[in-house]
Amino acid sequence: MQLKKTDLTGALKILAADASVFVPGEIEGIKRFVLWDGESDVDLGGANTQLPPKDILFPCTEKMYNYKMGDSIEIKEIVEKPRQVIFGIRPCDMRSIDCMDHVFLEKGFVDSYYSRKRENVTLIAMGCTTPERTCFCDSMGLDPNNAPNADVMMNDGGDTLVLEAYTEKGKAVLEALNGLLSEGGQAKKDTACTLKVNMTPELPEKLAGMFDHPIWDEVTRACIGCATCTYVCPTCYCFDIDSDNHGAEGTKFRCWDSCMFSDYTRMAGGHDPRPTKKERVRNRYMHKLSYFHERYGQHLCVGCGRCVEKCPAHMDITMFIDKAAEV
Ligand code: SF4
Ligand code: SF4
Repeated sequence: MQLKKTDLTGALKILAADASVFVPGEIEGIKRFVLWDGESDVDLGGANTQLPPKDILFPCTEKMYNYKMGDSIEIKEIVEKPRQVIFGIRPCDMRSIDCMDHVFLEKGFVDSYYSRKRENVTLIAMGCTTPERTCFCDSMGLDPNNAPNADVMMNDGGDTLVLEAYTEKGKAVLEALNGLLSEGGQAKKDTACTLKVNMTPELPEKLAGMFDHPIWDEVTRACIGCATCTYVCPTCYCFDIDSDNHGAEGTKFRCWDSCMFSDYTRMAGGHDPRPTKKERVRNRYMHKLSYFHERYGQHLCVGCGRCVEKCPAHMDITMFIDKAAEV
């Protein structure tokens, strides 16, 4: 099915009738997902958003429950089940949701805060037409033209967007938009990344045997421990839990944390099993490229290139992969 680009606003109005719709837009010069307000521009083409849409399903600060202490302790869970649509999410960021699903919904543990949002979100993906010079998703096993876990897959068709439903939720979207859709459409599906990385199938296991290799002294030297890489990464999911306490009552909340901070692994007695940046960077790269693969059978790096683009010290995971492949 195809939708004329001139009918995009009409389609978003239909979707926004019973859900919050997030679209690629701009806030203070930063391209990121924004809540569509009924008329703002939607930037579906060009480079991917500088920040991933991760915070829509896993907010950077999230209230968990309110409590009151007295003769007994009262706990009131904060239950949010917002109906949300993420419109125009790229295949790399779709794969990152796949990674989050593994972490928050599998192996015998369900994170209720994530699962409630995940159940109520509709994911309308958009194939890439213009990868950035730092994008390398196809080296990480992704197709920049397709996102198999999307509810609806969209691809550019010139004057139209070509839509295909992959799930029941996706079929419901196409039914809702029926009046604006027509048969046919020739989708552009030949995008490939220019940056190629030597991510061999053997690398996850090879890295597991390189824990004490001198490569870590070399590749970790430049890091300044700012954690920018983890905050812009669509797959980093670590969080801390704290309280906003006011006398006998307060709110428990969680907020993103980063393994690149020195106190992330510091224990109450003062011992820190990752005392220097060498151990911290090694853990980050090993988690992205080896540990997660061992547990879930896929990489925790989706090749979006954001950490490469944003690191102030020019740390580059693609150069690390190539170096490690040569060892
Ligand atoms: S963004 Fe770069 S310098 Fe900052 S913590 Fe990450 S790797 Fe280190
Ligand atoms: S590690 Fe870097 S390139 Fe890989 S998914 Fe995270 S931000 Fe993107």
